[in-house]
Amino acid sequence: MDTVVLKFGGSSVADNIKLNVVADKIIHLYETNNVVVVVSAQGKTTDRLLGEAHSLNPVPDDRELDVLLSTGEQITISKLSILLNKLGYPAISLTGWQAGIYTNCTNQNAIIENIDTTRIQKELEKRRIIIVAGFQGINSNFDITTLGRGGSDTTAVAIAAALNAKNCYIFSDVDGVYTTDPNKIGSAKKLETVSYDEMLDIADEGAKVLHNRCVEIGQKFNIPIVTKSTFNNKPGTIVNDKIEDTKVKSIVKNDDIIYIHAKQKEYSISLFYRIYHTLLENKIFVSNLINHSNYHLDLTFTIKAALLNKFESLLNSSLNMLDCTYHHITKISIIGHGIMNHEEILENTIKIIELNHLEILDIELNESKISIMFKEKLPIDILEQLHNKLIE
Ligand code: ASP
Ligand code: MG
Repeated sequence: MDTVVLKFGGSSVADNIKLNVVADKIIHLYETNNVVVVVSAQGKTTDRLLGEAHSLNPVPDDRELDVLLSTGEQITISKLSILLNKLGYPAISLTGWQAGIYTNCTNQNAIIENIDTTRIQKELEKRRIIIVAGFQGINSNFDITTLGRGGSDTTAVAIAAALNAKNCYIFSDVDGVYTTDPNKIGSAKKLETVSYDEMLDIADEGAKVLHNRCVEIGQKFNIPIVTKSTFNNKPGTIVNDKIEDTKVKSIVKNDDIIYIHAKQKEYSISLFYRIYHTLLENKIFVSNLINHSNYHLDLTFTIKAALLNKFESLLNSSLNMLDCTYHHITKISIIGHGIMNHEEILENTIKIIELNHLEILDIELNESKISIMFKEKLPIDILEQLHNKLIE
């Protein structure tokens, strides 16, 4: 019998009615497969828990924060198992450590290093439906870790890889990967398939469809990832290794970016390192880092908007030597295998930028992606213009 892994996101398990819909989907697949289910915390639980921690302490201890955040998923696994048992099915819930998910020690952004599938296999042999808490694992000190926001996708694909599962289904409230955000652009179209590389770019550039690390794992172990809706039976999007003809697959507009300009009269490599190290130590991950001068510290870089509070508190403490300005910007990424071989794609993009008198901070071109950082936050109609022009 084949083994399949199913993952249900927060909005799919938000209340009892939805848990019943999820249970039906599981039961249907259980008839003909061994089933491992990975779930997220219910609805906005993780956001709420984060808020509660910060209301007690603006900079909560990383270890304790993971103990708190991991409780969300634990509630879902137990509720779903209780429900399946009631419906007459032999479900068993497992937390991350019970499922054998071993990670490194980076709290809130831990990486899965190894999965010991002994317990899962044992339960599968008894034909149990296994419900695993996503987003969490255990490190070498037996402390709980979490995998980063959206990390349940990664739990699911990693388990699918460890079990050599036939498929990993990612169920959510959207029915697949689109040419752009379907909640914002009405003409967005669903993609039938997308390659791992394209999907990685789409996830990296800020589309919240799939956690980027789950795509890396899917690619490495060749596990097809099928994204589908929990609430209808339409075909979803399959992420696999098939590369299609060149075309723009997706356009991602990311507004959750802060552009930072930091100056200091002196400049030495040790000062540069100290700043970088302070940011990393505080889990402020920077991108697009450039120093513009040989004589002064004249740095620009970007961070995710969600990290701004943390960054501001560093400016008042260990980074108070910096003379800093920062603001919200938009980055737009146009993604598709080999698109740079088709000059008209870049040409049409530039035309739209000129027509709208948009100011550019930075433009990055590579074989399968055009990424542009703009000087300010852009309205949605720019995305619409690009989508109309670049996607047939
Ligand atoms: N509950 C976690 C989050 O909200 C993990 C997940 O949903 O994948 O980020
Ligand atoms: Mg998600």
